[in-house]
Parts: sequence; structure tokens; C-alpha cells
Amino acid sequence: MDRGLLQIRVLRKEVVNSSSAQITSVSNTRRGLPLKSSMLEQIFPTLTPAQISRIAPHGHVRPMQRGEVIVEQGDRNVPFFVVVSGEVEIVRPSGDVEMLITAQGPGQFIGEVNNLSGRPAVVRVRASRQGELIELDRQHMLSLLQTDADLGEIMMRAFLLRRVELVSAGVGDVVLVGSNHSTGTLRIKEFLMRNGHPYSYLDLERNTEVQNLLDGYHTAASDIPVVICRGEIVLRNPTNRQVADCLGFNETLDQTQVHDLVIIGAGPSGLAAAMYGASEGLDVIMLEASSPGGQAGSSSRIENYLGFPTGISGQELAARAYTQAQKFGAQVLIAKATRLACERTPYVVEVDNGAQIQTRTIVIATGAEYRRLPLTNLSRFEGAGIYYGATFVEAQLCSEEEVIVVGGGNSAGQASTFLAQTTKRVHILIRSAGLAETMSRYLIRRIEQTPTIVLHPHTEIVALEGGDHLESIHWRNNQTGQIEEHNIRHVFIMTGADPNTRWLEGCVALDAKGFIKTGPDLSPEELSAAHWPLARSPYLHETSSPGVFAVGDVRGGSIKRVASAVGEGSIAISFVHQVLQE
Ligand SMILES: Cc1cc2nc3c(=O)[nH]c(=O)nc-3n(C[C@H](O)[C@H](O)[C@H](O)COP(=O)(O)OP(=O)(O)OC[C@H]3O[C@@H](n4cnc5c(N)ncnc54)[C@H](O)[C@@H]3O)c2cc1C
Repeated sequence: MDRGLLQIRVLRKEVVNSSSAQITSVSNTRRGLPLKSSMLEQIFPTLTPAQISRIAPHGHVRPMQRGEVIVEQGDRNVPFFVVVSGEVEIVRPSGDVEMLITAQGPGQFIGEVNNLSGRPAVVRVRASRQGELIELDRQHMLSLLQTDADLGEIMMRAFLLRRVELVSAGVGDVVLVGSNHSTGTLRIKEFLMRNGHPYSYLDLERNTEVQNLLDGYHTAASDIPVVICRGEIVLRNPTNRQVADCLGFNETLDQTQVHDLVIIGAGPSGLAAAMYGASEGLDVIMLEASSPGGQAGSSSRIENYLGFPTGISGQELAARAYTQAQKFGAQVLIAKATRLACERTPYVVEVDNGAQIQTRTIVIATGAEYRRLPLTNLSRFEGAGIYYGATFVEAQLCSEEEVIVVGGGNSAGQASTFLAQTTKRVHILIRSAGLAETMSRYLIRRIEQTPTIVLHPHTEIVALEGGDHLESIHWRNNQTGQIEEHNIRHVFIMTGADPNTRWLEGCVALDAKGFIKTGPDLSPEELSAAHWPLARSPYLHETSSPGVFAVGDVRGGSIKRVASAVGEGSIAISFVHQVLQE
């Protein structure tokens, strides 16, 4: 069952049962949302008196009166609270009704990942019994997290698990109304999911009552996807950027401040740079055009990253790294860098909302963008049968159907084995004779052992057909010339990627394929053409502009792996320190 629908049913039951602003619990086993009991102690831990006494000097004690709203949904820079006495309830407001998520008593604390970033609160906190709280502002909470390892671990684990529960229960401050046949709906679902933001989803085609909701907001079915933020702001077919602004992902920037480091791109390399930079005391801003995780975020399971013997989904890895970077104070904006002004220092990074960010050093971590197939009507079906990532969202759309994966690399292998778990059959299309040259042996073995995966060598797609959604494809065997039509509605394109460097407009030297040249790869001629001004040579990963580094997939000659991207992002920080001292 769709978890969004489940959620709205609960809410409707509440509306029917409620008179005025009443609180309704949805669980009959404990007060609040039903949670996995084994995790309860980690999600809502009770601190010992000794632990509380270590927190107290970082903040101040304040009274609370029964019924007082301590945190309102949408409040920014929410403080961190420990309940000393009395009780608070965490609720999701919905019109006149509140849904109880949980109640917290003495020794328990209030906070989740938005406390780290300063983003708007997704829930309301209300005192249900008179008492006292210890209140810490964001800066003091961050410094506590960084200096007290014991409390830091308890708090960070609770913050993360609380967010996971909110996401999986679809309890948040945003409702998405859409259709599984709409490209825009899929885009926004992915955007919210990959940004780890909890949302409720209502499908227009599966729930006839949704039309009444749209009518209430003077919105037509043709406007979908519709995003309702905090029950107040209604966005009709918004861009990801508009959704980010509405949910308060982007803090206001002080454009007069010169930052130590701006990182562009929040894939594995950018996230590593942000985490190491911030943890080593640098003032760091990271820009991400879409969602943290980059290409790795679209991987269903990464099995070759050190320390995760059973594998980890790209999204989970990214979410952990993102939270870790924020814990150390890195500021993250969901915004796209459109230009780098590199003629003088401090450098200026121009952002798609018109903002300009001044910085002494830059790490370019913009990675690569999926290659598209040369088919005339491809863009018409992107998100409506054509996909560039195989995550849980896409897998749900094509369960029990036949699908095609195009490509012979590791990403195609992973996608195929992942999709084979829920689909009827997976056809892998490759232009070469076999996978041995391009795919890791463990994936080839897994493909060979899965009877529902069929490999088609020397084969490529030559035509796509359909209406609002892809309905059928034609593929050609290049050895025989034979063209076949198949009624397959889902195609996953995993054919490699091109570097995201067009926006740099000559600021740094590129190789013939558009990747950024760095360090010893830069020839004396290239440095002289770039007017390299220093006596020293460029550091490792430094581009032809001093203090501008390139890491990960966007860098020429890099190994296109998560581990190497993470390694490069962290190494670059030690050279950033050296540049800042020059
Ligand atoms: C489906 C798939 C599965 C994979 N599986 C594995 C695996 O199992 N193991 C492995 O080791 N590797 C795997 N890889 C490769 C690995 O994901 C990449 O090598 C790695 O993600 C590169 O990291 P990166 O940070 O350099 O770049 P990317 O991951 O490409 O991230 C770049 C980020 O920069 C952002 N960006 C781009 N331009 C701008 C701009 N102008 N302004 C702001 N932001 C911008 C992008 O939105 C993106 O988030 C996989 C790749 C794919 C596509």
C-alpha cells in the first residue's frame, strides 16, 4: 500500500473524530506513531542525570506552561531542548487537527536533523504538562555535538533515526499531489526523497477524494504535480528550486562575507570535502544543484565501499555524509552554480537565484551527467518510462513488468540485479559482444545466476513509442540487422556520463573530453596560457587557477568510484589549508 495514502486515511479519521483543535494518537500501543520497538530507546533515549549536567552549562533553563507552543512548524534555527520536568508533545498540525507523533518526558530531548542545518521545523512542539526545559541555541548545540563524543553519538543517532521514521511514515510539512504517470511528479518525489525530506503523497488516479483537496486550494487536476507546503503555500508544477525555497532549504546568504571555501556539488567528493573542511574549522558553503549524493545517490546498492560488507544504498551513504557535514557546521544550499568569476580574488561564484558568493578557495566537485541515447523523442519519455537511476522510487513503478537496462558498466549491472528482485524480466542491451571488459566479475556472476536477466549483445534501441508514457520500443541486433518491437514500458539508461564543466567558461584548463586538468597533469604551456601567477606549481588536484581545486569524477584522470571521489575530496582540504596560509 502507498504509505502516503495510509497517512491521509489516518488524518481523515482524525478529522471525522475531532471537534475542534484536538490531538489524536494513531497508535494504541504507545502515545504517538507506531515505531519499531527495538529502536525506541535509540530514537527517544532518556539521558542520565550526569549527561544532563554536561548539557546544562551550554544553555539555560526556561519554564514551560501547559499548552505553550515551544516550537512552531516552520520556525527556523530551532533551539535544542532537554526536558527537565513536565512533558512535551511533538505533533504534526493539519488544519485544526494535530496528529501526535510522540510525547517526551524528563531526561528526553527534542530535536532532529533540521536542528543541525537551521532549516524550518517540520513539526510542532507543545508543552502538555507544566515544567522546565534546558534550551541550547544552534551554535551551542553544534559545539556540544562536536566536543562531547558520548552525547554527540546519542544525539546524532536519535536525530537521524527520527528523520528516517518521519520519512518512512510520510509525516512532514509537505503534501505532494500527483500521478504516477506524470514526469513532474516523479521528479519531485525523487527530489524530496533524495533530500531526505518527509512528505505525504496523494495520487490523483488512485484516490478520488484528492480532487476535493485540490478544489479547496483552487487548483485543477491539470496543475499536477501540486506541492502544498505547511498547508499554506501551494505550488503548481514547481521546479525543484521552487520546492527547495518553499521548504526553506536555502538560508539567506550574507553576500558581503568572504568565505574560506565554497564547494560546488554534493556528490561523494563534495560531501567529503565539506565534512573534512568544516571539521577542521573552515567556514564552508556547499552548493548542490539537485540533491546530495550525486550519481552515487542513484545507486541502489554500493558494495565496494570500504566498511560496508553487506553494501549500502547510495542514498543512505549520502544522507549520513550530509548530516555529518552539517554536524560540523557546513552550510548547504540547494542551488546551482552558474558562473565562476575567476579574474581576481576573492573568487565569486554566481548562483542561479542571482546571489554571488565570495570565497578565498573553491573545490569543484560537479561530477558528471548521464549520457543520453540519440533518439529523437527521448526527452518526451524521460521520467515516463525512461530513467537514469534505479532506486526504490523507480522500482515501484515497474514492479512485475519487463524492463530494459541499457549499458554494460557496473551501474548497469547493479541496476539489473536490483530490478530483477521486483520485475518480471530484465533485458540488458549492450552494443559490444559481452560484459567482461566493462563490468566487475562479481556482478557478471550475479547476472549469470539470475534466470530473469537476459543479456542481448550487439543490440541497441532504435525507436521509442507511446503517448503520455512509453509503451513500446524497437531494438536492433547490429550483427543481423534485425529490428524487433517489444511492449516494454520502462528503460533504464546506464551508458556513462559527461563532465559538468560547461558553466566554468574558460576559468580552468580542461582536457579534450571536457574534464578538469589538475596538478602534475597541467603542462607549462597550459599554465602559462592560464596566466598561472605563482612561483610554485599547482598542488595535487589544484586547477590552473590558484586555490581552485577539482575532485572526483569531474577531474581528468580520476578513478570513477565512490571511494576515490571521497578520498580526493578529503585530500583537497589539506591543500586548501596551505593556500589559505599563503
Ligand atoms: C547508478 C550508478 C551506480 C554507481 N555505483 C557505484 C558503486 O557501486 N561503486 C562505486 O565505487 N561507484 C559507483 N558509481 C560511480 C560513483 O557514483 C561516482 O564515481 C561518484 O558518485 C562520483 O562522485 P562525485 O562527487 O565526483 O560526482 P557526482 O556523484 O557526479 O556528484 C556531482 C554533484 O554535483 C552537482 N552539480 C553539478 N553541477 C552543479 C552546479 N553547477 N552547481 C551545483 N551543483 C552541481 C550534481 O547535482 C551532483 O549532485 C555509480 C554511478 C552510478 C550513476
